Amino acid sequence: MDLFEYQGKQYFARYGIPVSQGGVADTVSEAVAVAEKIGYPVVVKAQVQVGGRGKAGGVKLAADRFEVELHASNILGLDIKGHVVKRLWVEHATDIAAEYYASFTLDRAAKLHLAMVSAEGGVEIEQVAEENPGAIARRHINPLDGLPIEEARALVTEAGLDEAARDEAARILVDLYRCYVEGDADLVEINPLVLTTDNRVHALDAKVTLDDDAAFRHPEWEEFAGIGEIDERERLAHEKGLNYIGLDGTVGIIANGAGLAMSTLDVVNQVGGSAANFLDIGGGANADVMANALEVINTDEKVEAILVNIFGGIVRCDEVARGILTALDRVELSSPIVLRLDGTNATEARQIIAGASSEKVISEPTMLSAARRAVELAESRSGGGK
Ligand code: GDP
Ligand code: MN
Repeated sequence: MDLFEYQGKQYFARYGIPVSQGGVADTVSEAVAVAEKIGYPVVVKAQVQVGGRGKAGGVKLAADRFEVELHASNILGLDIKGHVVKRLWVEHATDIAAEYYASFTLDRAAKLHLAMVSAEGGVEIEQVAEENPGAIARRHINPLDGLPIEEARALVTEAGLDEAARDEAARILVDLYRCYVEGDADLVEINPLVLTTDNRVHALDAKVTLDDDAAFRHPEWEEFAGIGEIDERERLAHEKGLNYIGLDGTVGIIANGAGLAMSTLDVVNQVGGSAANFLDIGGGANADVMANALEVINTDEKVEAILVNIFGGIVRCDEVARGILTALDRVELSSPIVLRLDGTNATEARQIIAGASSEKVISEPTMLSAARRAVELAESRSGGGK
């Protein structure tokens, strides 16, 4: 679960990481009220879960009430990379002397935590990594060892932070590490971490991704639920108990088993297509589950073709075939289905599908040919307009 900046800052504050004083506002008058309370100058900031808000006009300094009104009314409703701004965070403005970068994340390949610190903050870290990789100091951290203050100090020195910022930045790193580990986050990122003109260091932005698998031990996370930018498709899928992840492509995917679903995504990619989702219907691929799966994919307007890839091991293909036909009665599909059924009772299954003579369902014998067919269909449909 990704947090908004204001929630991330509240999370940081629990671990003693300094942030500016501020408040949320959903309307222009609320923004003014927050500004009047904390005192000018303030920064008016769009709360959307996407980077680069500053460049998109979603972060503005305001010196007085009139500027708050102006910026708040411009930013509310602004579309930032497809995210429409519904909420603002208004905080006391900071006089910046230098902008840095700091983050902790999990390096899965190394099976260790990874700290990254840079004196080049305020720009996207991907850009720094590309243009000036030497400017990022990296350190793997063994979770059993943790991050001692001496290590944090060495890291900020190596990163080349200004002398005046080093002690405070090292302390913040230690707190940020605690926030990351005890706070069960997959990612904590401060960009920029700033040195102020009066030589203090604090977090000016916050990016926090919580580890959903740890939710059971964080009843306090309840407050973050419901206000996040949940993918409408994922919400529906979750409601129906499906293992679904929304993606951006045009080929809807249904497979049984997470491994097969992943391979299906890969094959679609390999033949030049793009998957609209990951969906594993698991072992119980009955008519009801299949109908639910098709229903969710059907709500996705980008989908132009649906690829159903089932390998019958425990589940029997003839049951799956009947399930699909039942599902077709229940759901008015807007895209054709390309079906690859193999394994137990595959022959009977193909006969069932052939006998139903539905124009909406096309059988293909292999995973590769099915993926090709689905991608072709998706391309011709999106190219020719629906
Ligand atoms: P992002 O563009 O989505 O990463 O949003 P940030 O919260 O990182 O803000 C973008 C930029 O706005 C920062 O890098 C700063 O340069 C600037 N900014 C944000 N807050 C302040 C502030 O309090 N004072 C000043 N002077 N600049 C700020
Ligand atoms: Mn930022």
